[in-house]
Amino acid sequence: MAQLSDDCFAFGGPMMSVDEAVGLITTRVNAIADIETVALVEGDGRVLAGDVAAPLPLPPFTNSAVDGYAVRNADLPASAEQAFSLDGRIQAGGLAQTPIKPGHTVRIFTGAPMPPDAETVFMQEDVRVDASGRIVLPPGLKRGANVRPAGEDIPQGHVALRAGQRLRPQHVALAAAFGLTRLDVVRRIRVAVFSTGDELASPGEPRAASQLYDSNRFMLLAMLRRLGCEVSDLGILRDERTSLASGLKQVAGSHDLVLTTGGVSTGEEDHVKAAVESIGSLVLWRMAIKPGRPVAMGIIDGTPLIGLPGNPVASFVTFVHVVRPTVLALSGALPEPLLPIPVRAAFAYKKKAGRREYVRASLRRAQDGGLEAVKFPREGAGLLSSLVETDGLVELGEDVTNVEPGQDVGFLPYASLI
Ligand code: AMP
Ligand code: MG
Repeated sequence: MAQLSDDCFAFGGPMMSVDEAVGLITTRVNAIADIETVALVEGDGRVLAGDVAAPLPLPPFTNSAVDGYAVRNADLPASAEQAFSLDGRIQAGGLAQTPIKPGHTVRIFTGAPMPPDAETVFMQEDVRVDASGRIVLPPGLKRGANVRPAGEDIPQGHVALRAGQRLRPQHVALAAAFGLTRLDVVRRIRVAVFSTGDELASPGEPRAASQLYDSNRFMLLAMLRRLGCEVSDLGILRDERTSLASGLKQVAGSHDLVLTTGGVSTGEEDHVKAAVESIGSLVLWRMAIKPGRPVAMGIIDGTPLIGLPGNPVASFVTFVHVVRPTVLALSGALPEPLLPIPVRAAFAYKKKAGRREYVRASLRRAQDGGLEAVKFPREGAGLLSSLVETDGLVELGEDVTNVEPGQDVGFLPYASLI
């Protein structure tokens, strides 16, 4: 486990910006050093544990990029077309044993190794065969055209994959192109997830008239799994300090991160703060973010705890800005800043300066072909429909106070967040 000191999440100011929160997390959270070796495809979504240098050049040998005819550079027709006698045929997987004869051409196919001394390939669409069966090549082709030199993609020895890379299918493909069969990855981050609240019932269990089904826990479990975590679903803790404390204490030692939702406001029935303080340390981060509210950051037996707000949209947004960077830091992943894409606002909006706001919005194609963000008509942080019926979040920075229709804004698609 990555042991942290009790005061590692302490923060001096009254309000914390999103950037300050991410900065604090990335500098304070220690990466897990445990490594496991997995089969290539199992590497997808995992964090690479060490650099991978190319054990061979890519492509491994010089080959033709097209179906066509290979010639020596010395024989390239300069100003008029020229007829060549055919001297052999090489297909992909084949091998040219002998050098190409001067004044001759070799029939060659995409991916086939170039014959010795041949340097250029004519595309078959650009040549014709004359009455005596000779291959007529046009003038003006550049030397080396339609050839892929060995190592043009990646030279041998080049560090092609970096430690901390979160692997995607293209990274798996590169490892396979190197002939690797296994990859060293950081072991999955173990996260314990609890909901808190007397008003919650688990789906599948009886629900009293004053209760609602717990939805956040399943959202958080699903988000964590998308981040490659091994999750423990630990159900619902009641709004009572001692049972909260003993529930949290029990799992801290066997997990890398404890995640809770609900009970972190400052109401009398918000018991997470007191519970964590009785068994570890806790600070409430007042983040300058909407939707948000305080996020609890604690340490129990050296293990970090994050207490997210209970309102589903606040829980979602704070997960993205606090839990996501924490999981990335725990797994030693390279930082993955969220980069909003520019779209046009199809709405007007006013906000306070000094805090960042996220507006749930759908994208549509405007008449001129550009993308427009249409704001969800209602704003409550409890509206799950607002997350379901939109495509992502418009990010309005700390300096923004006013948005007019037609103005450029940054948009984060949900798919880019998690
Ligand atoms: P809290 O942060 O505990 O004050 O909760 C704020 C609001 O979010 C309340 O209306 C709760 O009922 C609701 N809430 C808290 N936890 C969950 C949950 N796990 N799933 C759905 N709603 C929740
Ligand atoms: Mg509550």
